[in-house]
Amino acid sequence: MIGGGLAGLASAVVLAEAGLEVRVLEKRPHLGGRATSYTLPDGSEVDNCQHVTLRCCTNLADFYRRVGAEGKVRFYDRLCFVDRHGRRSAMQASLLPPPLHMAMSFVSFGALTLADKHSIARAMLAIARAGGAPPDIDGISMLDWLHRMKQTPGAIERLWRVVLVSALNEELARLDARYGIEVFWKGFLANRTGYQLGIPSVPLGELYEGCRDAVIRRGGQVRLRCGVRSIAVRENRFAGALLEDGTEVSADACIAAVPHDALLDMAPEELSGSGGPLEGLRHIRTSPITGVHLWFDRTVMTEPFFALLDHTTQWVFNKSLLYAPVEGSGPAEKRRTAASRAEGGNGQYLQLVISASYDLVPRSRQEIIDLCRRELAEILPATREAKLEKATVIKEVNATFSPEPGVDRWRPKQETGVRHLFLAGDWTRTGWPATMEGAVRSGYLAAEAALAALRPAEPPRKFLQPDLPCEGLSSWWAKRREKATP
Ligand SMILES: Cc1cc2nc3c(=O)[nH]c(=O)nc-3n(C[C@H](O)[C@H](O)[C@H](O)COP(=O)(O)OP(=O)(O)OC[C@H]3O[C@@H](n4cnc5c(N)ncnc54)[C@H](O)[C@@H]3O)c2cc1C
Repeated sequence: MIGGGLAGLASAVVLAEAGLEVRVLEKRPHLGGRATSYTLPDGSEVDNCQHVTLRCCTNLADFYRRVGAEGKVRFYDRLCFVDRHGRRSAMQASLLPPPLHMAMSFVSFGALTLADKHSIARAMLAIARAGGAPPDIDGISMLDWLHRMKQTPGAIERLWRVVLVSALNEELARLDARYGIEVFWKGFLANRTGYQLGIPSVPLGELYEGCRDAVIRRGGQVRLRCGVRSIAVRENRFAGALLEDGTEVSADACIAAVPHDALLDMAPEELSGSGGPLEGLRHIRTSPITGVHLWFDRTVMTEPFFALLDHTTQWVFNKSLLYAPVEGSGPAEKRRTAASRAEGGNGQYLQLVISASYDLVPRSRQEIIDLCRRELAEILPATREAKLEKATVIKEVNATFSPEPGVDRWRPKQETGVRHLFLAGDWTRTGWPATMEGAVRSGYLAAEAALAALRPAEPPRKFLQPDLPCEGLSSWWAKRREKATP
């Protein structure tokens, strides 16, 4: 296994459980890849960026279960949105059956006008009636589809953009309509719980503690600071890897679970070069995410998190509260430690997230901090008087692949065509955008393929988990769509 991010770890864990001796080679000093945490020089532990999941991410949930991290992610069923005047609106499921369970929230959503709500209802109904797959959306952008559905500017700015830019890390005009529509179908329409937001109650790195154990217990190895320079292929079969320190390693099979640009650097020319099966990876572009970490000297926010409307800042997470122990919820001592580490004393630690942050990339750290403070002052008045004790800005310039219209044609499958060489990573073909769920799906698919190649006499193993079941009227519409699909 090359790469100890979520894709590599997901593969490694299920293959170890299936009885294989797995070796994980990870370049960095820690596991988790783009979804990880590390310690700053002053001792505070920060996530590279806040990561959240949704209840509809069934494979990520399965992975957390396998490695004993399930209890370290807390789910919230009330999503709060704050507009420029500080007015709060919430999204929460009612008792109505899907797809109507969120309807009451939309009706009472204060930041939307009647015309906005009416247009949103029409578009949602179109998605639901089509079982999540409206016609004629191939290759068009989400913005094109929203215009086709005659969405008002308010609906686009205050609902579609707010949800989709953070979920998919791309602007609506550069976002494949299929991905945008799927987010609303799987998250808000198909199942009553799909939208619930899961937030780790510990630094991200602690979610992977069980992975090393799962691999080592079955005779495998996890090697950190172990970069791979190149992969060798002979007679169309995986023939070993060369490490950055010059040593060669051999294995019966290899799953390369590194970012797509790193794979281009290590794959042999016949795969990555002109006309090779990986040539298309050169067309995949990336989009940035900026995380801003602010430590105040006092309490400035009472909610665990909220989304901001009409601002550059998109989400604010109250890390002190999110890390705080909840009565009767497991290893309290550990949570208390995480909380106090996050606070760094009696103050409060907030993490702000800006996805598709193209405009922030050229701006200085101080400019970004000043902008965020100005925006926070509008909606959290206590920040005006509070002293900012410390601040960190983490710009992930190549955070995720950009889900541009048509990007799927450049995403390779997990099988490479080279015997015993497989691919995993959020950028491989999973049908999902670049998310932790997409990464785990890719890892499970690669593991299924590797096991089938290594044990051809055995019945194929299935690791991929089903989606949440469709419920209510959505279930009927989904079945109708399945019947109609050739
Ligand atoms: C700032 C940010 C915020 C995000 N927020 C969310 C979110 O809220 N929710 C969500 O679902 N997703 C989010 N994502 C996306 C999510 O983090 C990724 O989709 C997922 O972690 C990708 O996992 P991966 O295993 O495919 O790749 P990676 O995590 O990139 O793992 C690849 C691994 O390969 C290693 N590697 C690279 N080169 C070599 C080499 N030569 N030899 C050995 N090892 C090597 C790397 O060090 C890395 O550990 C976010 C991403 C970022 C960057």
